[in-house]
Amino acid sequence: MPEVFDSVEAIRDHINQWKLAGLRVGFVPTMGNLHGGHLTLVEAAKEAADRVVVSIFVNPTQFSAGEDFDAYPRTFERDLEQLDELGVDAVFAPSTQVMYPRGQENLTFVEVPDVAHILCGEFRPGHFVGVASVVAKLFNMVPADVAVFGRKDYQQLMVIRRMVEDLNFPVEIIGAPIQREPDGLAMSSRNVYLKPDERQRANAIYQTMLATKAAVDAGDFRSESERDELEEEGRAALIKAGLQPEYYSLRNADDLAVARPRNERVVLVVAARLGAARLIDNLMIRE
Ligand code: AMP
Repeated sequence: MPEVFDSVEAIRDHINQWKLAGLRVGFVPTMGNLHGGHLTLVEAAKEAADRVVVSIFVNPTQFSAGEDFDAYPRTFERDLEQLDELGVDAVFAPSTQVMYPRGQENLTFVEVPDVAHILCGEFRPGHFVGVASVVAKLFNMVPADVAVFGRKDYQQLMVIRRMVEDLNFPVEIIGAPIQREPDGLAMSSRNVYLKPDERQRANAIYQTMLATKAAVDAGDFRSESERDELEEEGRAALIKAGLQPEYYSLRNADDLAVARPRNERVVLVVAARLGAARLIDNLMIRE
């Protein structure tokens, strides 16, 4: 089993010893309940580094009141077994007390501008402040050379890249590709909230995104009004499948601004509610 650390001093010392020995350290931050998406992040970290640390911490400050913090699935023993099979070297699993010894109010925080305020930032106020702040803390606790995040959370990856750039964190950020279930649903810890009939309908997100991509590939995105039509059709398809879309939006893949036909890189970003789950996904439309 990987060695499990729950104190900041112990994990930091351990990593610094590796670094003194000339080893490159990779880091994969997670909230646990590990699935195939997390496991490819670990594989990517192993390729990029000599030693790999995975953190497991369900961060309360990135959940708003009324969100699923209490219900969030916690499967620590099973997570450890999976990480053992992958040959992860260390697991950092701090308690809330270790992470927030002064409590969760009146904290020093990291506020990333622009990209953190749109899309999920609008629907989940405060979410990216919680994410950026805890990742900043984790980077100081786990002084790794390289950290791997999933492109499934496309906006989160952009927020973290911006924070690392603006605040000069000495860590390289790698984005790993989205892992999907066989029917196309993006793997997510939150998929366990779906009832069987909801689970069957959940692949509408991927199918609808593929249809939008096919339309763009066929030349249906020549103007802003055509973009609006494509988005409206996407939302309508999700509603027809029983989902409640929050956004279904073509964006400039470099800054998540509303996409223009002339943009070279375009990403389709989606958030939708289905039963108790809030699902997010994205698809590169042009790269
Ligand atoms: P979470 O435990 O949900 O906070 O996710 C931890 C990391 O795993 C984040 O960098 C996510 O982007 C990444 N991740 C989650 N689901 C997937 C997926 N289906 N494919 C690739 N990466 C993922």
